[in-house]
Amino acid sequence: PAAPLLLEVRNLHTRYGRVEALDGVSVQVPAGHIVSVIGANGAGKTTLMNSIMGVLPSSGEIFYQGQSLRGVPLEARVARGISLVPERRDLFASMTVADNLQLGAYSRRRENWRADLDDVYARFPRLLERRTQLAGTLSGGEQQMLAIGRALMGKPRLLLLDEPSLGLAPLIVRDILRIVQGLRGGGVTVLLVEQNARASLAISDEAYVLETGQVSLHGPAAELARNEALGASYLGG
Ligand code: ATP
Repeated sequence: PAAPLLLEVRNLHTRYGRVEALDGVSVQVPAGHIVSVIGANGAGKTTLMNSIMGVLPSSGEIFYQGQSLRGVPLEARVARGISLVPERRDLFASMTVADNLQLGAYSRRRENWRADLDDVYARFPRLLERRTQLAGTLSGGEQQMLAIGRALMGKPRLLLLDEPSLGLAPLIVRDILRIVQGLRGGGVTVLLVEQNARASLAISDEAYVLETGQVSLHGPAAELARNEALGASYLGG
């Protein structure tokens, strides 16, 4: 049987004044899957993430665990288990790795944050090694690990990742995406937004291609990886 949908976005429209950034976008995210949204600069990927978090007014419907999120504010969405790792990572540069992680626990008022911290360190031994280092002095890849680790501190059910590979060297991109792939076993469902199509398709179950605010293509990730039209524009030929 098909996995139940953890998230369903139906016919979403989001605009910035006259600019229609999302023009009728529908995306389905089955529980336990990794779903990627691929798109060029300006396609609307970040807008989609912010609409799901409820920080941008949009029309259409978003269902999470079968319930409409209409009128549900950001904090309540976070409390229900939706967590966003933003493109800019938003770390506290002058605080240590450990303090950044601990702050991640506050957003969901977790009481057993020490156990969550142990889980994050088990997943990211590099962060454990560097727990007293200031976040601003970490490498780009380490900062991305910290941003993901901080989001995991709240034990989210749905993790939204906005371009985790941005600005990272190809080898590090592979490390980060391997970590994302590893989340699947831990009961976390992932919606991954990426420009890096080939790498994200390799770890995804399903994928959507977003072009100027509309879904132009979607299907099983393995199928999209073989798609010739997609290959020419997003997979480097
Ligand atoms: P990138 O990969 O470059 O981050 P993206 O796919 O995430 O791109 P969005 O940031 O969602 O794209 O932007 C979608 C469209 O909406 C773009 O045309 C962008 O210029 C426009 N846009 C985004 N934010 C605003 C804003 N605050 N005001 C006006 N237009 C905006």
